[in-house]
Amino acid sequence: MASHRYAVAGALSFAMILAGGGSGLPGLAGTGAAHDHERCSAGAHTLAAPGSRLYPDTGNGGYTSLHTGVHMVYDATSNRFLPGNHVTLTDRATQCLTSFSLDFERGSANASAGPDMAVNSVTVDGKRAAFRFVQPTYPGDRHGQDDPDPLAHEASQLNPVGGPAHNPLPPACSPELPSTGAAPNSANGTQCPANKLVITPSAPIRRGETFSVTVAYTGRPGVHNDGDGTTEGWFRSNRPKGDGGFVTTEPVGTEDWMPLNDHPSAKPTYDFDDTVNAGRTVLANGVLVSREHHLPDSLFPHGSVTWHWHSAAPVASYLVENSVGRYDLAERTVGGIRFYQAQASSLSAARKAKNRAIMSKQPDITRFESMFTGPFPFTSDGVVVGRPSASFEEEMQNMITFAGGEIDTDTLYHENMHQWWGDHVTEASYNLTFFKEGMATFGEFLFAARRAQAQAGGPGSEAGRRAFQRSLVRRFNATYASKGRFWTAAPSNPTPHGLFSGSATYERPGIAYIALRQILGKSNYVQALREVQRRYGGGVITEAQLEAVFHRLLPTRNPACHSRLDQFFTQWFDTAYQPGGGARRPHITGPGLAGPGFYTGTCTR
Ligand SMILES: [Zn+2]
Repeated sequence: MASHRYAVAGALSFAMILAGGGSGLPGLAGTGAAHDHERCSAGAHTLAAPGSRLYPDTGNGGYTSLHTGVHMVYDATSNRFLPGNHVTLTDRATQCLTSFSLDFERGSANASAGPDMAVNSVTVDGKRAAFRFVQPTYPGDRHGQDDPDPLAHEASQLNPVGGPAHNPLPPACSPELPSTGAAPNSANGTQCPANKLVITPSAPIRRGETFSVTVAYTGRPGVHNDGDGTTEGWFRSNRPKGDGGFVTTEPVGTEDWMPLNDHPSAKPTYDFDDTVNAGRTVLANGVLVSREHHLPDSLFPHGSVTWHWHSAAPVASYLVENSVGRYDLAERTVGGIRFYQAQASSLSAARKAKNRAIMSKQPDITRFESMFTGPFPFTSDGVVVGRPSASFEEEMQNMITFAGGEIDTDTLYHENMHQWWGDHVTEASYNLTFFKEGMATFGEFLFAARRAQAQAGGPGSEAGRRAFQRSLVRRFNATYASKGRFWTAAPSNPTPHGLFSGSATYERPGIAYIALRQILGKSNYVQALREVQRRYGGGVITEAQLEAVFHRLLPTRNPACHSRLDQFFTQWFDTAYQPGGGARRPHITGPGLAGPGFYTGTCTR
């Protein structure tokens, strides 16, 4: 994601205090049993670790998400899902399940743009299943996820919750601030909404069983108010009136238009069979398979069309694209990759031409970025320029969203880099967002270096190569010298309020990757990035796994160098410093890449 707006980050460095003895989630009990008498229990209502203060309400345990079929029936003129609208989620049980849950924000305090939907029925393997909505409970609650204590279900940016009642427990969800002007901690201590859809099948689901759950729902999709007061999800597109909906959802807004396992580590494959008004275009992940036109009927008096998109690649929760509207859609194949270009039909011809010139750079950008990060991981790529003024651009898988009717080249480098970093290799948890935002920011730095190289004689000349390197070094040195709050938040320990607005998520890991390139050497660095793609592509990665790959490609692998690299990661990714950095800020590669350096003492090259 790239933000238009860099909000002032609030107080960010709070110690993370784990409350309780961490006896584990009751929902996970029985996972070790392998006999006929396996104990069956409820799946966990979260995938967050105990003590998490970053969307601790999201994700659901006890099963693995395999495939999702989206069967949208959507009337663009009223912005509503009609009867027949449903999703079918195919999952595999990882324990014997008496019940399991999904994430679905069907209602919101945001009366104008928030969702207003209702679940009409739920079936599991074709049989009617009971369902209810419950509040989330803080992860690790020893009293179970149905803890009657209201304090176990409170929102906060912080751990412990604090709030008016000085709640000593960790938060159960991240607060939904009404606007970007709201004070970061103003909603701490409020009750979390009941967005956990708990489904009880007619009989327990055995461990290892594959099952399918169909949720039928109708009503108006909408946006989620996030912990920083921005909104994400389903943006009403009303230019021209009744145009459709524009979907851009990071980090959790997908549950504002469909029920799902809303956690980045849940990566099912997708099919979309979306029926919409005749004349509207559906844009989704993967490749367009077919379009089928239908005659007028009671739901669509002017006819309808069903668009079928298919993604054989798994898609993380926040990267599911499903926009509807009047779009100019074009496609071409370059180097075996299908590139889609879509932009709102209502834009002026001049604006469209400007946008098209930038969108047409995507194959070249993809080829350039693949020199660093390996072959493009998907069979398609694309861009959609929508009209609603969502406050950010996002790396939706194979279909990057640009809001406000405009696209720019620098951000396209950023979002396209995400196709490898975030999309193909996904962060295992939200607090690893810096891992992929840093890499996307590094993609912007590469673009600047590429421009300097072109001006100096191009990639084939010695002067060009020197200019490329000089651009990266200057970027590192200038950013390293940042004053103010640049150093005050640890990238791996953000709050919901600061996650997408601070240099801790973007520039600090971005220049850390420049330093890593210096430490490993150009060739080993490229090998490391490709290795991460090969090993973790299609799935998720943890911070330890990421760092282990860089360790394996250190040119000198002795204990002193490994220990220095550990120190490097701790300093750059996991440590908060005083404003301006102070004397204790990282010195291994600073001040500047020409500082004391990495290879000193017993760690030499
Ligand atoms: Zn980004």
